[in-house]
Amino acid sequence: MKVYNTQSKQKEEFVPLVPGKVSMYVCGPTVYNFIHIGNARPMIVFDTVRRYMEHKGYEVNYVSNFTDVDDKIIAKANEEGVTAQEISERYIAECKKDMAAMNVKPATTHPLATQEIDGMIDMISTLIEKGYAYNVDGTVYFRTRKFSEYGKLSHKNLDDLRAGNRSLLVTGEDQKEDPLDFVLWKPKKEGEPYWKSPWSDGRPGWHIECSVMSKKYLGEEIDIHAGGEDLIFPHHENEIAQSECCNGKVFARYWLHNAFLNIDNRKMSKSLGNFFTVREISEKYDLQVLRFFMLSAHYRSPLNFSAELMESSKNALDRIKNAVSNLGYISAAAKDGDMSEAEKAALAEVNGFETKFDEAMDDDFNTADAIAAIFELVKYANSNVSSENTKAFAGAVRDEIIKLCDILGLIVEEKEELLDEEIEKLIEERQAARKAKNFARADEIRNELLEKGITLLDTREGVKWKRA
Ligand code: AMP
Ligand code: ZN
Repeated sequence: MKVYNTQSKQKEEFVPLVPGKVSMYVCGPTVYNFIHIGNARPMIVFDTVRRYMEHKGYEVNYVSNFTDVDDKIIAKANEEGVTAQEISERYIAECKKDMAAMNVKPATTHPLATQEIDGMIDMISTLIEKGYAYNVDGTVYFRTRKFSEYGKLSHKNLDDLRAGNRSLLVTGEDQKEDPLDFVLWKPKKEGEPYWKSPWSDGRPGWHIECSVMSKKYLGEEIDIHAGGEDLIFPHHENEIAQSECCNGKVFARYWLHNAFLNIDNRKMSKSLGNFFTVREISEKYDLQVLRFFMLSAHYRSPLNFSAELMESSKNALDRIKNAVSNLGYISAAAKDGDMSEAEKAALAEVNGFETKFDEAMDDDFNTADAIAAIFELVKYANSNVSSENTKAFAGAVRDEIIKLCDILGLIVEEKEELLDEEIEKLIEERQAARKAKNFARADEIRNELLEKGITLLDTREGVKWKRA
């Protein structure tokens, strides 16, 4: 499997630190509003990377943070007259709903910056002890020039950066030794949330959060660090500086960055009015369509969002779903018994589409070509599978399409809706199971219902249920 590493600017063979295991950190959103469709791109792309790695047999430890302390969160809290915590908790919950609707798996761990302050104080203290950081009146800065490898990810030259950064000296940060130095800890301003530290009552800088959370949940050296390309500089460059100076080890071996999502060929921005939240899109489309749209391009290519492209994504996804549903009808009507020799040979051809799919994904996660392989399989199924075939063959072709789509996180199988009386019957069976102290069966029924979108509520008046 080859992955493009921003640091080497090359596709490299992926070799994990520990055979069979992958440690992966993806910078998550700052939670002060509903996530927008730009934020959804790294979520969907790197969830797909994770799913593909899992398909290849790796055990993936996937960590993605929520930045829950930040100027924008504080500003929103002041606007609404509530606490910053209330804002971040609200939008984390909303973000998780959007993720579920896009079929983005929950991370192994979703750390919150505000819960990791002790680790940040420890890392900053170590950096001060080693001479990589200094405190001026309660603000702690990182001494950028002391890290000789600074710029290795973004391929920036320190002297060019310095020339571009002179203006910083007039923005109130003139206490810095060098304009390139960046903040690790800053004192609170009136009305802001703060934590006690050896330097001041204050809060951490943004970059230190990720260095600390990555270390705590994945270790000092990890396989993959990922995020949108706007994070390469300064965020990821600064993370490398902090982590490598603190730990004395390579921070991350592969750096993956997704390109930006634009709207109608323009940069997405609130002021241009071309700005969509994932929630807004969900009012018009099943978010599977958004997922399909995101994966229809390579993750390192800029992607343009438009109404027409969403319509064509919807139609394309429907073509796959229709094929799956037709194959379902065909296999229900088809004859039982073993596959014929001709069918066995045909199945080898079907497996060839999976090989094509894997080859595309092995080439730096080329989801566009992987989707093309799925369409070839769909075309093959539409013209080669009929009720003349055996149930086993039609079912195998159907399963293959579902399997490949599932690796991309695309749900193409219509879930059967339960009728009201079927639900009532299952609830009765669950009550009987509980009475008989068969709790395993009772739980099984509850889970079966949950999978079909039915939630049970045990109330004093008996069991109530509702559809999701
Ligand atoms: P933020 O909340 O701004 O820190 O962003 C969270 C993640 O979304 C980061 O990985 C960003 O790089 C990514 N991101 C933000 N805007 C876009 C966009 N328009 N296209 C693609 N990725 C984006
Ligand atoms: Zn980060």
